[in-house]
Amino acid sequence: MRDSAYNTVEGMRMMNRFTSLSPEHGVPEDFDPCWSEPFASPNDDVVHDACGVFGVYAPAQDVARITYFGIFALQHRGQESAGIAVTDGVQMTLSRNMGLVSQVFDEETLSSLHGYAAVGHTRYSTTGSSLLCNAQPLTVETRFGPIALAHNGNLINTAILRRELEAYGAQFEGTSDSEVMARLIAFEANTQPSITEAIRSAVTRMKGAYSVVVLSHGAVFGFRDPWGIRPLCIGQLNEAHFVLASESCALDAVGAQFREEVRAGELVRLDDEGEGLHYIILTEQTKPSMCMFEYIYMARPDSHIYGRSLHLSRRRMGQELAREYPAVADMVISVPDSGTPAAIGYAEASRIPYGEGLIKNRYIHRTFIQPDQRLRELGVRMKVNPLREALIGKRIVVVEDSIVRGTTTRNIVKVLREAGATEIHMRISSPPYRFPCFFGVDTFERKQLLAARMDVESIREYIGADTLGYLSIDGLLRAVSLPKQNFCLACLNGEYPIDIPRDLKVSKFSLEEMSEEEQLALLIPSSLE
Ligand code: SF4
Repeated sequence: MRDSAYNTVEGMRMMNRFTSLSPEHGVPEDFDPCWSEPFASPNDDVVHDACGVFGVYAPAQDVARITYFGIFALQHRGQESAGIAVTDGVQMTLSRNMGLVSQVFDEETLSSLHGYAAVGHTRYSTTGSSLLCNAQPLTVETRFGPIALAHNGNLINTAILRRELEAYGAQFEGTSDSEVMARLIAFEANTQPSITEAIRSAVTRMKGAYSVVVLSHGAVFGFRDPWGIRPLCIGQLNEAHFVLASESCALDAVGAQFREEVRAGELVRLDDEGEGLHYIILTEQTKPSMCMFEYIYMARPDSHIYGRSLHLSRRRMGQELAREYPAVADMVISVPDSGTPAAIGYAEASRIPYGEGLIKNRYIHRTFIQPDQRLRELGVRMKVNPLREALIGKRIVVVEDSIVRGTTTRNIVKVLREAGATEIHMRISSPPYRFPCFFGVDTFERKQLLAARMDVESIREYIGADTLGYLSIDGLLRAVSLPKQNFCLACLNGEYPIDIPRDLKVSKFSLEEMSEEEQLALLIPSSLE
């Protein structure tokens, strides 16, 4: 194994870059790695993407550049921070910062990242705040030299693992579950013969959702939890070399051919031994439960998961929605961009013409500038603006992929009315989002979810639409044409594929918002459940 060939702490160099400082200026003395991002909108009202991960093992190729374009294609999965770690076998070099991939990296930075293997990450924080110290990849030192880890998902036993590791002397720099994973692998490496075995041993302690890439001096690893909640796929870059990516769209971006998905409970290793791709079963006890929101909203429409095109699946969601909730109207429009494939599907099935009614500012992703009060009151118009000429005097079907807190949907209805639409029929291409997610999508508490507090008629009244219809779970499953047991649907039906620890549940299920039955279920000791 090459894992043990470069057992050196000095090999790791870290370059935390600032937008206002060039690397040669160095890091100021008062630099706080837990620097907080100045603006994260409190009114964000969408199901947030989780994170994007990418890995490549390809000697003689510009792996940093390949990784840059890989994570650039995964930008939709996280816009808070980005990073790339590269190894040349002697030195592991890390560059990461807050911001979009294109803000974090420039030609100069990429040119300084030399090596034959790399991993990259784009982050949206689900555990641990939006801080530079939580940006990924994360590097830790192990008995076999440094490793860099990038994670998509969310552990549900972070607190207990962290306490245990701290009791053994581990010193944490950030607050993320991903750092717990990295330090757990480093801890296991003390007693295991290789990084492969250290990962195998560490995952027996991890509970929750994780699709992870790890870089060592000798290999790139990719592994998924036994439920396969977050996606991870393998691409063939050339005859001997492979890449790993959260979604197949990133394979297309770097010219790799889709080979297969990493299976739930499987570890793959990319290196220069044999065919360069090795499969290791981590556990036979798997229960594939892919996140249904990857299908509804999160993954890019040009990606494929479980062999299904997401664009076509979303179009079929719109077609099913039109059958379940028809409307008499003059035009179908989408809430761009995520609602567009379903809106096209709705138009196809209903034979109502599809048109554009809302124009999205494609550069809205993140702003560091707070709007003043007057601009804040304009609310949604910074994100989408109505096309008055297309809307005036029309009865409109508006297709959106989901409603979380309802504030954005309410604003959209208001904006459309002000633009002259005479009727607004809101159609949602997913069932009501009623339960919190613990597996790496958002940090909403149950009381923040509109559909947890209101029935459909009350929501219709709240958002101000003339009619409102949500796609049913059966309709959703017909659209993806796969059996229900393949999916996690927990935020839609409350059936979590993994038992959620009591303390986590209580933190997101505010007791006063719960039925007596739900409260009792939480209050009885787990041994009696
Ligand atoms: S709870 Fe919902 S968002 Fe979370 S993993 Fe399951 S389906 Fe996806």
